[in-house]
Amino acid sequence: MRPAPLLLLFVLAACLVRAEPASIRYNGLEYVSLDDSVARLGMRVERSIPPSTVMVKDGAQPVARFADQSRETDVKGLRVFFGDPVVDRGGTFYLSRTDFEAHLLPRLRPELCGAPPRVPHVIAVDPGHGGLDHGTENRALGTMEKTYTLDVALRLKRLLEAAGYVVVMTRETDVDVAKQIRSEIANQARADLFVSIHFNSLYPNTKTTGVEILSFPPRSQRSTNSWSPGEKDDSESREAPINDFNRWNTVLSGVMHRRLLDALKTGDRGEKFEHLGVLRMLKCPGVLVEPAFLSSESESVRLATAAYRDTIASAILSGIQDYAELVRRASPASVAPAAAPSVPPSATGAPVRSQPTRPSPGP
Ligand SMILES: [Zn+2]
Repeated sequence: MRPAPLLLLFVLAACLVRAEPASIRYNGLEYVSLDDSVARLGMRVERSIPPSTVMVKDGAQPVARFADQSRETDVKGLRVFFGDPVVDRGGTFYLSRTDFEAHLLPRLRPELCGAPPRVPHVIAVDPGHGGLDHGTENRALGTMEKTYTLDVALRLKRLLEAAGYVVVMTRETDVDVAKQIRSEIANQARADLFVSIHFNSLYPNTKTTGVEILSFPPRSQRSTNSWSPGEKDDSESREAPINDFNRWNTVLSGVMHRRLLDALKTGDRGEKFEHLGVLRMLKCPGVLVEPAFLSSESESVRLATAAYRDTIASAILSGIQDYAELVRRASPASVAPAAAPSVPPSATGAPVRSQPTRPSPGP
C-alpha cells in the first residue's frame, strides 16, 4: 500500500474514536448531526445559499447536498432518495442514523463499510418478466419489456464470461419465473452479486426518459413511492436476508447508477427504494436497474437498436467491475487491520454480517 492512503486511514481512525454524533428524536427515529457524522469521515458541512440547504465537502470538493425536509439529495452528482427527510434544527442539519450508516457513509467512504462481502466472481443475472408476463410494452412499436430484458441479459452474460466471471441466469428463454425462485436460483449458486434488469414505463407520459436504480430498503425505512400523497407507510418491522448487505447494496446501486448515466447520457430518475420480492431473500448484495423508459417515444426507438442494448450491457459490466474493485479495496488483504477502522452499524440501521472472502480465481 502507498504511504498516503495509509496515513489517511490513520487520520480517519483518530477521527472515529471521537464521541458519538449529537442526536435528536424526529418522527420517532434517531437522527444524528450531519456535521458530527461527516466529521467522522474526515469531511465538513458548509452552509449554502439559500440557508435551507447545506453542502458536504471533502477538502475543497463538494460531495453531497442536502435540503431541509427533503429526502432527495445529490451525492457526487447523482440524484439519490434517502429513506427519511433531512431536518434543520436551529441551523444544524440532522439525518436519520439509518440514512447516515446505510446510505451516506457507503457513498462517501466505501472503505469504511465494515466487513465486505465476497469479492464477486459468481454473478446472477435476472432478466425481468417472461412468458405470459410481458412486463410493460411500447404501444406504438409493439415492443415488450420481457424481450429486451432477456436480450440485454444475454449480452451481459457474454461480456461477463469474457471477463472471467461465472454467470448464473434466472432465465435464458421466454418463460416466467416466480420472484422468489429467481433469488433462490442465485442463492443456490452461491452468487456473489445479483443484478435484475427491467425497463420503465410512465404511460400516458411518453416524454420521460432516464435511468432509475432500485434497491431494497433497510428495515424501518419505506419504499420511495410510499411517500407519495395517499400512499401508506410500508416499512417492515423484520429484517429480510438482503438487509445483511444494506451498505453494499448502496455501493452497488451507486456504481450502477453512475455507469449507466455516463454511458447512456439520459435523464437521472434517481436511486430509490422498493420492497422488491426479487431482492428480499438474497444472500448477496443485489440491485434492480431500469436503464430506459419503454414508454418514451425517444428511448423506445433507441432501445430497438442492438447498439443501444450493447451499450446498456457494457455499462452494467463496468458497474460490476467497479463494485468488485471497491470490495477488493475494503477486503482485509488490501487494508491493514490496525488502519482499517469501520463505522460500526447501529442497532437501528445496517447490520453487516461478516462474510468469508472466497478466494477468487476470476477478475
Ligand atoms: Zn419490469
